[in-house]
Amino acid sequence: MMYKTIIGLEIHAQLLTKSKAFCSCSTEHFEAEPNINICPVCTGQPGTLPVLNEEALKLAIKTGLILNGQINKFSRFDRKNYFYPDLPKGYQITQYFHPIVSGGYIDVEGKKIRIRRMHLEEDTAKMLHEGDQISSAQESLIDFNRAGIPLLEIVTEPDIETPKQARIFMEKLRNLLRYADVSTGDMEKGALRCDANISILNQENKEISKRVEIKNINSFKFVEKALEYERDRIINNLEKGGELIQETRGWDANKKETFSMRTKEEEMDYRYFPEPDLPILILNDELIETVRKLIPEMPEEKAKRFVSQYNIPEYDAQILSSDKELADYYERCVELAKDAKFVSNFILTELLREMKENEDSIETVKIKPEHFAELKMLLDTNTISTKIAKDIFPEMYRTGDSPKQIVEKKGLKQIENEDELRKIIENVLKENTDSVEKYKNGKKKLLGFFVGQVMKETKGKANPQKTNEILKELLEDN
Ligand SMILES: [Zn+2]
Repeated sequence: MMYKTIIGLEIHAQLLTKSKAFCSCSTEHFEAEPNINICPVCTGQPGTLPVLNEEALKLAIKTGLILNGQINKFSRFDRKNYFYPDLPKGYQITQYFHPIVSGGYIDVEGKKIRIRRMHLEEDTAKMLHEGDQISSAQESLIDFNRAGIPLLEIVTEPDIETPKQARIFMEKLRNLLRYADVSTGDMEKGALRCDANISILNQENKEISKRVEIKNINSFKFVEKALEYERDRIINNLEKGGELIQETRGWDANKKETFSMRTKEEEMDYRYFPEPDLPILILNDELIETVRKLIPEMPEEKAKRFVSQYNIPEYDAQILSSDKELADYYERCVELAKDAKFVSNFILTELLREMKENEDSIETVKIKPEHFAELKMLLDTNTISTKIAKDIFPEMYRTGDSPKQIVEKKGLKQIENEDELRKIIENVLKENTDSVEKYKNGKKKLLGFFVGQVMKETKGKANPQKTNEILKELLEDN
C-alpha cells in the first residue's frame, strides 16, 4: 500500500450530571422548552461567579480510570476566548494547559489507540437557523439551555488507520461511557459528538498531505462514511497533483459527501489564559480511590463472569456483554427462563438479527424477558418444536405478543397424538412409494426426506422425535 491514512478524533461526551458544570441549572436541554433552564451564571451575566460541579469532576476522573488514563493531581481551568453568538460570556471555560487526564487507550482490532488527553469544559448554547442553511437564514434563534452543560473532551493520538477503526473506537468508547454511567452516549441527542481529522501519508516519498478536519459528525455510520469519502478525495487529489488546502469540512448525510466550511486562513485565533474565577484543582488519592470504587463491572469482567457463571462460549459472552443494556436483558431472561444456553442462542441468532434488520436498540425491543421464559416452557412441554419457536419469533418481535398467544391464535400447537401422526405419516409414505422402495433397498439417508415431507404436511407442527420413531417403525416393518 502506497498510502497510509492517519486519523485522529476529538470527541465531546456530555457528562451525566443533574446540574450544569458551574451553576445549579438543570442539564435537561433536549426536550425542554427553550431558554428555561438558565440563570445569570450560565448566560454569562456580569458579576456572576462559576462554582465547579463536584459530580462532573468525579465523572471526569471515572472516565480517566476506565480508559486507562493518568489522573493528574494538578489541573486547572482556562478561558478560551472567541466571539460567537452561541457563547454567552464571550469565552468558554475549558482546560488547555493542564488537563485533568493525560494518556489512556482503547483496544481496537488488536491495536491500542492512544488517547492524548481528556479535559473538562462547558458546552455552548444552541443556535437554530431558519431555513436550510445558515447563509440563507432569515432568522437565527439561540437556546441557552445547553450553555454550561459539562462536557469531557477526549482527544486521541493520530493512531487510527482506517475509517472503520474510527467507527469501532467511537462505538467502544460509547459502550464504556454507558457502562460506567458517565454519559448516555446518545449521539442523536448530541450527548456524544465527534470531530475527525485526517491526512494521508505517501509511503514512497514520505510526504504527508495537509490535514482536513470534519466537524460535528453525529452518528457512528457517518464517522466511517465521512472519513471514507475524505480519504478517497484526498488520495484522488494527490494522484492528480492538485493543491490540497488545510480546511474544515462538514458531512452532508443526504448527498453522502463532505463540503468545505472554512479554510485555515479564516480559523479563529483562540486566546487562552487561566480562568481567574475558579481555583486550581488539586486532587488527593482519597478522592480518586472513592471514585474508583464507584466503577461498576465493566465489559471484560462481565464477559468472564458470563463464561464461568452461565457456562456459555467466550464468543457469546463477549457479544452479550458488549452492551450494558443487552447484558442486563440477557441476565433477566436467564433468571426467568432458567436456561442460560437457550437464552443466549436465541438472543444471538434470532433477536440480534431482528434488531439489525429493524435498526432497533435493546431499549425499544418489545419482547419481554418473560416471553423468553414462556417460549422455553412451550418447548419443554413439547407444545411447540424448535422450528415453530423460530418461526413465531419475528411475530413476537413485531407485536410484543406473548408466544403462547401467538401459538394459540395461529393453531401452531405441536401434533403429539400418535394416532394422528401415524395417519399423516402413512399418507406421506403412500405418496412417495418410489422413495420408500429406495429406502428399503438401503438408501437410509432418505429418512430425512420423509421427515421433511411430514413437516411440510403439518406446517412444522409434527413432534420431530415421534415422527422419527413412527417413520422408522413403518419403514422397517414390512
Ligand atoms: Zn445556570
